[in-house]
Amino acid sequence: MLIPSQSNPTRSFPSSLLKLTLGVGLALSLLASAWAAPQSDQKALQVYFVDVEGGQATLFVTPAHQSLLIDTGWPGYDGRDADRIVAAAKHAGISKIDYVLITHFHMDHGGGVPQLTARIPVGTFIDHGVNRESTDAATSEVWDAYQKVLAAGKFKHIVAKPGDRLPIRGMKATVISSDGELISQPLAGAGQDNASCKDAEQYPADKTENMRSLGTLITFGKLRLLDLGDLTHDQEMKLMCPVNKLGKIDIYIVSHHGSSQSGSPALVHGIAPRVAIMDNGAKKGGNPPSWDVISKSPNLEDFWQLHYSEEGGVAHNVATEFIANPDGPDAGNYLELTVRPDGTFAVFNSRTQKTKEYPAG
Ligand SMILES: [Zn+2]
Repeated sequence: MLIPSQSNPTRSFPSSLLKLTLGVGLALSLLASAWAAPQSDQKALQVYFVDVEGGQATLFVTPAHQSLLIDTGWPGYDGRDADRIVAAAKHAGISKIDYVLITHFHMDHGGGVPQLTARIPVGTFIDHGVNRESTDAATSEVWDAYQKVLAAGKFKHIVAKPGDRLPIRGMKATVISSDGELISQPLAGAGQDNASCKDAEQYPADKTENMRSLGTLITFGKLRLLDLGDLTHDQEMKLMCPVNKLGKIDIYIVSHHGSSQSGSPALVHGIAPRVAIMDNGAKKGGNPPSWDVISKSPNLEDFWQLHYSEEGGVAHNVATEFIANPDGPDAGNYLELTVRPDGTFAVFNSRTQKTKEYPAG
């Protein structure tokens, strides 16, 4: 059941109501009201992977409708990315975003702040502190625009440190990395030797905002999700070697859009995710070396991509059903993850209108 390609991505959201029925099986769907969500999903955490063309914008909405947006996508494009985020928020039934976390001040992450705040109320901004890449004009521009928004005095502001627990209710969000610092001790239950450190490469120290990314580990029920923003190889090694400070992860939000500067075997094979979801663009991220590491990860069941990667070609892209935006004109399709307290979860592709269910691990 394909939805037509369109220039206004907001129109793709209402049609996705179909997923509520497809998720409980075809027979039921023919009888049940399309407006009634399956019982279990009313207690689920919904996570929207908004297509911002190779930037990040990931919206978490708890069962009590508390919300956390990780990054705001790009500026410009007539507010395209902010419009797509607002469409996801509406779809989730929220009219305000409680927390907006900016992982770092690169344009594909913090650039959309002014457009977003012009379109939807925001409660609190969370970041790693000051911009440390003031030599880069584009990053400084993002930083200045963000400071202007904060200076208006309408928003609360939190500077997060590793080990902090973010105040969002209904899910546990623990800060792993911030401003170049990392958690110093393993998380509860973690700290095992990491076999993937053995033949690890030596990586150069990153000097950009990437290595300062504000990374979080989110726990909901039995499931653990990891988002490290664009954290680079050098920082991953400190986090994962010689011992794995994170433990195993169920759902890995692929670092740095699948750029080859991030996503080392020590990280990816150490956390050994069941599912990886990559927020790449057609021409950004999705680099073959990073893709190869993920696709060879020991416990991986599925790898989802927001876009077909042109650089990856046939050899380094997943099957089309796992891609929200295949090769061709952009339709702004999104992926939606449903995480339930019993440890089951599901991924919905707004393009195919199909949901894949995952049993508890
Ligand atoms: Zn980025």
